[in-house]
Amino acid sequence: MRMGFIGLGNLGKHLAASLLREGFTVTVHDLDKANAEDLLAAGASWGDSPKALAVASDSVITCLPSPRAVDAVMTGPEGVLAGLASGGTWVEMSTNDQHEIQRLAELAAAQGVATLEAPVTGGVHRAASGEITVLVGGEEAAYQAHLPALQAMGGEVFHMGPLGSASVIKVITNMLAFIHLVAAGEALMLAKRGGLDLAQSFAAIRASSGNSFVHETESQVILNGSYNIGFTLDLACKDLGFAHDLGREFGVPLELAGMVEQIFARARAQYGGDAWSPKVVKQLEDALGTELRAAGFPAVLSEND
Ligand code: NAD
Repeated sequence: MRMGFIGLGNLGKHLAASLLREGFTVTVHDLDKANAEDLLAAGASWGDSPKALAVASDSVITCLPSPRAVDAVMTGPEGVLAGLASGGTWVEMSTNDQHEIQRLAELAAAQGVATLEAPVTGGVHRAASGEITVLVGGEEAAYQAHLPALQAMGGEVFHMGPLGSASVIKVITNMLAFIHLVAAGEALMLAKRGGLDLAQSFAAIRASSGNSFVHETESQVILNGSYNIGFTLDLACKDLGFAHDLGREFGVPLELAGMVEQIFARARAQYGGDAWSPKVVKQLEDALGTELRAAGFPAVLSEND
């Protein structure tokens, strides 16, 4: 299966690298060719446009920062659907709105192209080691045909059901992660202002009933002062917007998520959309004039965290 990969950012570059490492033939494309340098050196081919890439591929993966970018890449005059042959597949790995994926999938189906969604969760350090969790929505035949590629990029793979179902669970798990991040920041601040050693507090929380995946990973990049989790405030605000939409659509009050969405909106206004998402906790540090720093936490998470 010849794979095309569009969107070689903080996440996509690792997913594409995993495909190459596992022996897939991969053509890559990004708005910025510099993002493809390492992949081209590792054996990938370059596609000059989404269309050119699609002509050279059986399946095309997108891993893009917004629904607008996905629409442009899929339906533009030089887009994927202008190049992918009937019988091909589009695999959407961006975190996207379920209805938007279904709309684009209908356009794809009209020309004989199947669609799978396969958003991922676990962070870029897990993508780098090929251990990121993959959530899949779509028909069984397309799922089975792409399982080797999905397993090459990820660790656990969950087939959630029909197209749209993976987007819903992906938004749900990110909503939880953002709530946990704000909660972890408040917890660390209480420890600091209470005069506790922050490294020891981190370890105690990790071994306690208050632990979370976010504490284990993102608290480390807060304590080391880099805030670098490879995921931006722009993306966090996008995903909290999707959660907000799900709450409205399904009639579920999201009181915590609503508050957390506003906290992230304020962080984005303060630090910029390109800032890393754990900077949401810096608001509390700035407001209190108290830094959450501790020695012994490396600047970037290791692939094993
Ligand atoms: P990113 O902003 O780092 O990378 C996006 C890439 O897409 C960039 O290299 C950009 O140049 C490229 N791009 C943008 N518009 C394009 C276009 N029209 N044509 C071609 N290339 C274009 O984003 P990311 O962190 O890699 O995330 C990508 C997607 O994956 C997002 O939907 C995000 O929500 C999701 N995601 C990210 C993470 C993470 O930890 N970073 C984890 C899970 C899911």
